[in-house]
Amino acid sequence: MSSTAGPPTRQGQLVVLSGPAGAGKSTVARELLSSGDLVVSISATTRPPRGREEHGRDYYFLDEDEFLRLRDGGELLEWARVHGKHYYGTPARPVLEHLAAGRDVLLDIDVQGAEQLRQKGLPLVTIFLEPPSLEVLRERLLRRGDTSPEDIERRMRTAREEMRQAWRYDLRVVNDSLERTVQRVRDFLVGSA
Ligand code: 5GP
Repeated sequence: MSSTAGPPTRQGQLVVLSGPAGAGKSTVARELLSSGDLVVSISATTRPPRGREEHGRDYYFLDEDEFLRLRDGGELLEWARVHGKHYYGTPARPVLEHLAAGRDVLLDIDVQGAEQLRQKGLPLVTIFLEPPSLEVLRERLLRRGDTSPEDIERRMRTAREEMRQAWRYDLRVVNDSLERTVQRVRDFLVGSA
């Protein structure tokens, strides 16, 4: 081995976090990221910003033409139309660069996107976050206050469909306590590193 060669770099892996809207994915994601062991993938979407969301931090907010140009140019690792409405997708380049540099990348994406990544054969672990019940989920969505009644019903329909896909995931966690959920996910990631 040449004396200039550094230590072999471990390739990073994708850490996919899915689950219905309102299951607590963003809060769990924030906690996981706080340890500094993971970097986050920022998705592109055609959904308008909610609340204090910022372009380039929470999402890349694009119009439909811009999104479709990225998709058709092969610049998305996966993409989906979520809740039958807006497009969401993962810009490929930053993710592939992180993986090559040995960094694990957290992706908060839906079940359709997770399936596309499995098909691609990229190194990945998948985690499905479940709400304690559909009733609790509805209450959480109502409490957000920034979602219309139609949106809530659409999200509840998607939630039921998503929950049917939970068996495909490596780890399923019922998110009834943030602390316990984050600990379970961390333990699982240590075991699969
Ligand atoms: P929200 O509109 O509540 O931010 O997200 C709605 C859903 O879209 C969530 O389930 C979230 O995981 C999913 N999502 C966010 N970004 C992406 C993405 O890049 N690809 C896919 N397939 N789903 C995404």
